[in-house]
Amino acid sequence: MLDTLDQQPPDALLALIKLYNDDPRVDKIDLGVGVYRTDDGGTPVFGAIKEAERKLVEEQDSKAYLGPEGDMGFVHALMPFIFGEDPTRGGRIEGMQTPGGTGAVRLAAALAHRAGAKRMIVGAPSWPNHAQIIKDLGIEIVSFTHATSDGLADLDTVKKAIEDSQPGDAILLHGCCHNPTGIDYTHEQWDEIAAALGNSELLPIIDLAYQGLGHGLEDDSYGLRAVLAKVPEALIAYSCDKNFGLYRDRVGALYVMAEANGQIDRILSNGHALARANWSMPPDHGAAAVRLVLRDEALTAMWHNELDGMRDRMRQVRDRLAEAGTVGSLDMTPLGTQNGLFSVLPLTKEQILKLREDHAVYMAGSGRINIAGLTMGNIEKFIDALADVTV
Ligand code: PMP
Repeated sequence: MLDTLDQQPPDALLALIKLYNDDPRVDKIDLGVGVYRTDDGGTPVFGAIKEAERKLVEEQDSKAYLGPEGDMGFVHALMPFIFGEDPTRGGRIEGMQTPGGTGAVRLAAALAHRAGAKRMIVGAPSWPNHAQIIKDLGIEIVSFTHATSDGLADLDTVKKAIEDSQPGDAILLHGCCHNPTGIDYTHEQWDEIAAALGNSELLPIIDLAYQGLGHGLEDDSYGLRAVLAKVPEALIAYSCDKNFGLYRDRVGALYVMAEANGQIDRILSNGHALARANWSMPPDHGAAAVRLVLRDEALTAMWHNELDGMRDRMRQVRDRLAEAGTVGSLDMTPLGTQNGLFSVLPLTKEQILKLREDHAVYMAGSGRINIAGLTMGNIEKFIDALADVTV
């Protein structure tokens, strides 16, 4: 039976990592994989997390099963940061822990599907796994163009997609630090999107995977909160893997906002059933460490500092790239106003290959670059390499 399965293509980014690792050139630059890097090129464990992990080893007295909802102390501790004042909106918001943001997106899409969603409106481009998850569930994708050719978010296309939506549609929006483009909606654009969603029957799913890495925790949740203020119900997929540096520990959460507080338990019981059928319960360790950080004032302050440092460094890199102005045929200035870990450079396949072969600069085939892969030590070499391949 298994013989009937077709060969699937390898993950392109994983293949790129292998090429990068095999490259003997000492000045090689990795802009492929989506992890934060310090100016020394490392991805260290956060100090606040290390401290919490020490406490965890001391204090944790059992590893017996939890329920499919995972660590609810963790789920609740995050809520003030995500939702601000009145984090439950009068008892209408509740959540559950998931294996990373991927698990949260999967569960959000599966829950929407179970509730009758047949189509999902998604901007293009998007994080490639969005489409994989949605298609795997048998949901049809309706796409709209996310950005204009000047590197700005396109308000008209998203509003048109909302206007044209049909009953049974859901819409997936990136809360901040859009992956891959780094192009986010402005506050004014979010207000308009929220108003349009309020006038539609769409179920919004907001994917917030980089809170704190754009303009700060509060600012990065502006769009989410604007939408929640205008719609009766929504799903929120959250990841702690970037903003707590927990990548391989798989830390995320799904939150549901119901129309009325009496509905939330019933809706979430479906999330629990789906989790049970998929992964039974999420991995404990990383979420427990986040809970300990957020329940301790000193550790929370330490986390804020570390997050501020990451954001400032990425801003510095973006400022330097934008300052370079026109490089070869590329206008680098939009990178200065984009947010988060990623941006897309409009390069051809040949130029991307030439960057790799002639300059040991590794980036995804889509032209997506990881801003944090650039350091004060390699950024000038990168700009020169860009100039060389785009003349
Ligand atoms: N959503 C988006 C937009 C992402 O970019 C990512 C991760 N790259 C995720 C969700 C999933 O994050 P995680 O690593 O926590 O599964």
